[in-house]
Amino acid sequence: MNEVLLLKCGELVLKGLNRGRFEDKLLAIVRRRLARLGQYEVYAIQSTLYVEPQEGAPIEAALEVCRKVFGVVAVCRAAVCQKNMEDICSTAVEYLKETMKSAATFRCQAKRSDKKFPLKSPEIARDVGGALLAAYPHLKVQMDGAQTEVHIEVRDKNAFVYAQRIKGAGGMPTGSNGKALLLLSGGIDSPVAGYMMAKRGLELEAVHFFSYPYTSEQAKEKALNLARLLAEYCGRVRVHAVPFTQIQDQIRRSCQQDLFTVLMRRFMMKIAERVARRQGCGALITGESLGQVASQTMEAIGVTNAACSLPVLRPAIGMDKEEIVAISRQIGAFETSILPYEDCCTVFTPRHPQTKPKLEAVLAEEGKLDVEGLIQEAMQGVETILCRPGE
Ligand code: ATP
Ligand code: MG
Repeated sequence: MNEVLLLKCGELVLKGLNRGRFEDKLLAIVRRRLARLGQYEVYAIQSTLYVEPQEGAPIEAALEVCRKVFGVVAVCRAAVCQKNMEDICSTAVEYLKETMKSAATFRCQAKRSDKKFPLKSPEIARDVGGALLAAYPHLKVQMDGAQTEVHIEVRDKNAFVYAQRIKGAGGMPTGSNGKALLLLSGGIDSPVAGYMMAKRGLELEAVHFFSYPYTSEQAKEKALNLARLLAEYCGRVRVHAVPFTQIQDQIRRSCQQDLFTVLMRRFMMKIAERVARRQGCGALITGESLGQVASQTMEAIGVTNAACSLPVLRPAIGMDKEEIVAISRQIGAFETSILPYEDCCTVFTPRHPQTKPKLEAVLAEEGKLDVEGLIQEAMQGVETILCRPGE
């Protein structure tokens, strides 16, 4: 039996004139992601993408890849039928054997995009339902809350039957809204923030600040692993690892202790902004959440924000920790995020951080440092690592 994947593209359908562009983008992305698994024919008709495995290329692995592609709302694994009721019914009976045997209730839903097909959708559903009932007499039809939904789609060249419709990542295709730079720590929040913005069609690059010897090689490796995980969704993530030890040492030596964190955060924003402009990123992304820690009060965020002029996207700003954790688990980042390696932010946390810092006071402290010199030195030490999915 011939099987294919049908990828449903929700939001794209709404995009009117942009639809062709988005569809092309999605096609290119799906083709690229599948290339490492084998040969697939991938094409789009009427806002559905078809993935046809060639020469024994695996379909299950392709499904796993496709469900993580932004812009794909659902992935259906379907059997291909001739466009006549006889073949549709016999294919349904044969293809869905295991599913129907283990189900008690089912219903059929049919859709025909080929309006010249002799039967209307409800008639197609009724006939296939009848064939399934005849073949599996233990079954009952249930219109509401059926255990199994059998779908029949009569499309241009073929008809398709399936019962497996898996939720996709949703959102918009990577790159359809440009590129942004994620400030990626090894924590829970920043990978989630990156995921949320990537879902809206942003291509991601990342900066990670590390402080040898205060933070370990494992802490950096952890951030890279989180980037690889994000890459499962958005293709590839270039990570710029920035040495931060010198900056932290200088702040500690010269500045007021209760402002350490906010001073550090301002350096991060300034360096991130330079990397972003160099790499053609239109915004920064952070995992900040209002009030979560002393450096994320409204006042502290204000002082941090004043350090750069690019827009800063903070998708987690209004979320509770539990909500962030739920997404972290859902995208498979949580187990990595909770590995116990120190982040450079936590190494020098003052005992009593200022929760309502004033910009003038912070600028006065900053003035004690050779800000430009420190930034340039850090920029010279940047190491760039390309993180790909499945590495
Ligand atoms: P996370 O869970 O993302 O580490 P957090 O709640 O621990 O966040 P902070 O440590 O205050 O919060 O950091 C706030 C944001 O600053 C992070 O979400 C991240 O975007 C950025 N950030 C913090 N540490 C680093 C780092 N070492 N490298 C790059 N960005 C960082
Ligand atoms: Mg952190």
